[in-house]
Amino acid sequence: MGRVVITGGAGFLGSHLCDAFIERGDSVVCLDNLITGRMENIEHLEGSADFEFIFHDVSEHISIDGDVDVVMHWASPASVPDYLAAPIQTLKVGSLGTHNALGLAKAKDATFMISSTSEVYGDPAVHPQPESYWGHVNPVGPRGCYDEAKRFAEAMVMAYHRHHGLDTRIVRIFNTYGPRMKPRDGRVVTNFIRQALQGEALTIYGDGTQTRSFCYVDDEIRGFLALLDSDIHDPVNIGNPGEFTMLELAEVVLEVTNSDSELIFEPLPIDDPMQRQPDITVAKTKLGWEPRIDLREGVRRTAEHFVSLGVDTL
Ligand code: UDP
Repeated sequence: MGRVVITGGAGFLGSHLCDAFIERGDSVVCLDNLITGRMENIEHLEGSADFEFIFHDVSEHISIDGDVDVVMHWASPASVPDYLAAPIQTLKVGSLGTHNALGLAKAKDATFMISSTSEVYGDPAVHPQPESYWGHVNPVGPRGCYDEAKRFAEAMVMAYHRHHGLDTRIVRIFNTYGPRMKPRDGRVVTNFIRQALQGEALTIYGDGTQTRSFCYVDDEIRGFLALLDSDIHDPVNIGNPGEFTMLELAEVVLEVTNSDSELIFEPLPIDDPMQRQPDITVAKTKLGWEPRIDLREGVRRTAEHFVSLGVDTL
């Protein structure tokens, strides 16, 4: 059994990772400055002998007593409105935060893994996106604070691997959704489900023909652990190749929630990618991983979670 440090451990994916490691029998040190993470995501773990929460901004030096076996660097604002509201903190956690987390892993002789993103491919000219595609990113557009921070972070991780021999992993995460997302994080899945449940119109940005490929959180977490347990140091896409237009997603949400909300059309945000779909050949062939939960079932579970919170409170 090991000791795992998870930065951003109170976030959506970070908190599911805390659960997954504790279930495996590991102990977890969760670091978070709560700018987008939430204590309610981890409150069920507080009091457990295997769990420790430390309030800390990982863009500042990280100091942890005792042995550490694995460092999972998951800290970063991740929804578009969240990183647009905190662009400098986003750049800092991707650069300085990654450097500090790598430094911790090196000092403890720990394995290091980072959450990267399909945003490294930008508005992709290659479709679907294999890991070998270098991407099409506007570095000075509004999304540049997130995309370039993650691209820098990947370069930093590879430098620690090549130069210091650190045992590293890089996962490129494609649109992931599920329980514990903030109902108002501004992402499309949360917006549509909340709007459908509250009888508001679903906001389609642009004409709704842009595509995304949505992965349910349980599949995504299983993919993270499979990659961690491998010896692959190059980036690996973990996502669900099922590709949908935003109009198709809206239809699924309306059907699953049994809602008669209307659709309204709003302007497409600047640099919004027109298409996105992971090529998961590497994950399938080298990790034996593929997603199991389809969009309809995942939306059903997420909507059920939102209902359990109380529709009026969303
Ligand atoms: N989107 C939308 N309505 C919303 C929120 C988002 O049509 O209420 C669109 C957005 O323009 C984008 C897609 O949904 O094309 C996915 O947006 P999200 O912010 O969830 O993720 P990302 O753009 O980072 O993939």
